[in-house]
Amino acid sequence: MLDTPAQPQSANDAGAAPKVSFVSLGCPKALVDSERIITRLRAEGYELTREHVGSDLVIVNTCGFLDSAKAESLAAIGLALKENGKVIVTGCMGAEPENITAAHPGVLAITGPQQYESVLDAVHRAAPPQHNPFLDLVPPEGIKLTPRHYAYLKISEGCNNRCAFCIIPKLRGDLVSRPAGDVMREAEKLVKAGVKELLVISQDTSAYGLDIKYAESQWGDKQLRARFLDLSAALGELGIWVRMHYVYPYPHVDEVIPLMAERKILPYLDMPLQHADPNVLRRMKRPASQEKTLERIARWRDICPDLTLRSTFIVGFPGETDAEFETLLQWLDEASLDRVGCFKYEPVRGATSNALPDHVAEEVKEERWHRFMKAQQAISARRLKRKVGTRQQVIIDEAGATVAKGRSMADAPEIDGAVYVASRRPLRVGEIATVKIERADAYDLHGTAVGY
Ligand code: SF4
Repeated sequence: MLDTPAQPQSANDAGAAPKVSFVSLGCPKALVDSERIITRLRAEGYELTREHVGSDLVIVNTCGFLDSAKAESLAAIGLALKENGKVIVTGCMGAEPENITAAHPGVLAITGPQQYESVLDAVHRAAPPQHNPFLDLVPPEGIKLTPRHYAYLKISEGCNNRCAFCIIPKLRGDLVSRPAGDVMREAEKLVKAGVKELLVISQDTSAYGLDIKYAESQWGDKQLRARFLDLSAALGELGIWVRMHYVYPYPHVDEVIPLMAERKILPYLDMPLQHADPNVLRRMKRPASQEKTLERIARWRDICPDLTLRSTFIVGFPGETDAEFETLLQWLDEASLDRVGCFKYEPVRGATSNALPDHVAEEVKEERWHRFMKAQQAISARRLKRKVGTRQQVIIDEAGATVAKGRSMADAPEIDGAVYVASRRPLRVGEIATVKIERADAYDLHGTAVGY
């Protein structure tokens, strides 16, 4: 038997770094908040773990978007209290602390979204940091919760819109854009650390810079305006994949499509539309004039024929009539979007839509959801099939002995399909290969690597 040095009995014995167990719930924006907190904790010498038992404390980054997400957050807090006992809660649900304390009075501290300093203060109180100059190292790009070859880049916080079903502006406040120079410096750091794909996120990416009047800031030897087009062009010069999420079809988005046609940024737009019927959209208080969206999409496809469009929709919004739902189905057929998510409307505490008349019965919502999904599945499968026989660039997410799993430019991580790639030599994670597409099924593509 090998001699091993005596192990400390608990994480906080002399010399051992305090251990923090971290639970990250919610959307990619919450994930970015988690990464910031984790980066700071690692920089201060804390050890991160996923095991509550044996940790000095647990941080739960909650999601408060839907009632089902709140229930998941409360359950995660309950489990952490049971398994560990020392729990700090942050994130969207922290904006309404009374809901947390009502269910779990024993939590140590509650902070709201983006209150990084308050989270760290609470951690310091519960488990003071131990300085060790040999161990307190943090990679310059921070700690990423996403695999190393892709990373989310948050360009703003909050939202100026007031969609009736959404409480994000209440939780996160109005739009606050980051200066373009700051965003670019973070992007460049990530690229230097090996990131091959940046996923640009915010609540409303196309509104970027509105709050700071598109102010210029220093980037390298020039001034860069905080405008969607200018930022997209600058990111497009980094020589990596840049993917745009949460873009609304405002007229100025047209200017960005040529950058996609030139492959400066990926020909991909994630554009949550939520509905297509003008009356429902008005009741939803949605931003941007959506009546012209079909024309706009047609124009975009003229400029960039292989543009991938992803969207999400809500069925069963209060007052949605059969005719309004039929308009949505018809629109869907005409728009022929590549990827679509669909949610059944769910009331969220604090949302103004709760007060609207004529809530739709659950069974009607259910029936509409099935009809919607069936219609869209046929459209998505048709669009995917058109790729058979083409060559696509594929970024590898998971290596395999003979078949690797990756994504084409048309697939965002976690929400879209995959490309399964057979190859003569094993492909590395993060590598981009040219793949001949041989087969399509409902969501995924299959092919063989023909160039490395
Ligand atoms: S655009 Fe609407 S749905 Fe999106 S965060 Fe803003 S208010 Fe919510």
